[in-house]
Amino acid sequence: MQRVGFVGWRGMVGSVLMDRLREEGELERIDARYFSTSAAGALGPDAQPLASAFDLDALAAMPVLVSCQGGGYTRKVYGPLRASGWQGIWIDAASALRMEPDTTLVLDPINRGGIDDALHAGVRTFAGSNCTVSLLLMAIAGLLRDWKELGVEWVQSSTYQAASGAGAAQVQELVAQWRILVGAVAPVLDDPTQGVLELDRALSGALRSAELPTRALGYPLAASLLPWVGDAKGDGRTEEEWKGHAEANKLLGLHGELPFDGMCVRVGAIRCHSQSVTVKFKAALPLDEVEARLAASTPWTHVWANDAESTRRALTPASVSGTLDIAVGRVHRLRMGPEYLSLFTVGDQLLWGAAEPLRRMLNILEAHGSRVGAGG
Ligand code: NAP
Repeated sequence: MQRVGFVGWRGMVGSVLMDRLREEGELERIDARYFSTSAAGALGPDAQPLASAFDLDALAAMPVLVSCQGGGYTRKVYGPLRASGWQGIWIDAASALRMEPDTTLVLDPINRGGIDDALHAGVRTFAGSNCTVSLLLMAIAGLLRDWKELGVEWVQSSTYQAASGAGAAQVQELVAQWRILVGAVAPVLDDPTQGVLELDRALSGALRSAELPTRALGYPLAASLLPWVGDAKGDGRTEEEWKGHAEANKLLGLHGELPFDGMCVRVGAIRCHSQSVTVKFKAALPLDEVEARLAASTPWTHVWANDAESTRRALTPASVSGTLDIAVGRVHRLRMGPEYLSLFTVGDQLLWGAAEPLRRMLNILEAHGSRVGAGG
């Protein structure tokens, strides 16, 4: 049995990870210990007292630690834990360690070879990559594996990112915002003498009222959007936009040669990130070849016909949410020239964007028999 300590198991990513481990019957094969940053001593999901996530000795007793707690926690605990001599496997959902040279990113449908090589080379730190990056690569890997031969020059993406990407408290607040909005418009909606402008006035008033909860999100997101995700990088980009280039290149085993850029926008979807993508080629590729390559990106990637019915039915958060499908569609050339390819993709960011690569990493570790001795 693999002995694994879980930190952050009740957060957005952690809950989905636990669900998936349960669903796949894998939790039964894990000797799990649960940690908490806020409720050490209270009963955990296994009805055992939660260990403190700041107790270095308790952490060091684990050969494998999975943290879905966040970058602040990782920055606080990881260094001292390693400094204490702990040589276990650290698997992290947060971005704190992703760009460290001794951290390998995990998204095995894209970089299984790199993960295996890292394990053989004794790498002990693994991190899931940014959700939008993971979903983008799962969608277009078929164009990126041979990007040089295919003449791919750059990739641009405009995102429509779900609230869950910000965390559990933000999802709860988004729904609480909806409740306020619905409460404000219900009397107008139910009154046949009131028209659509009265409806809009009631909604806009509630959206800007002090009653709307904004503690977690900072601003209204229900019936709105936020075209800023993450901290500022100082060059006009947000951190989320910066990660697009840095992490995609690292996952592909590149060193920044392939430019990725774009605009990241938070929308009121709950689980799915959507992206409108432009891929620039040196010379146009036949569209049927493009579609065949996209469909071969991963076993979970499905390419939908560029028609109204398929798109509205299948290429939406409503249809993809809660599934492992990576939906791709709207594949067509842009007016700017046949070498500009446009497509749209939707994926559940809590699954392939967050929890699934971590769950699969535990399986890969098990397959490698990498039960590294605690502190050894
Ligand atoms: P989260 O939902 O905010 O949960 C993190 C921790 O916050 C929980 O483990 C819990 O810790 C505490 N917490 C506070 N209020 C909570 C509440 N109302 N419900 C549940 N837990 C609450 O964070 P997350 O979205 O899972 O993200 C964790 C890390 O993964 C972050 O570094 C994030 O950047 C990264 N990541 C997230 C996504 C995503 O889709 N959200 C994708 C990829 C990577 P205690 O139990 O110790 O109190």
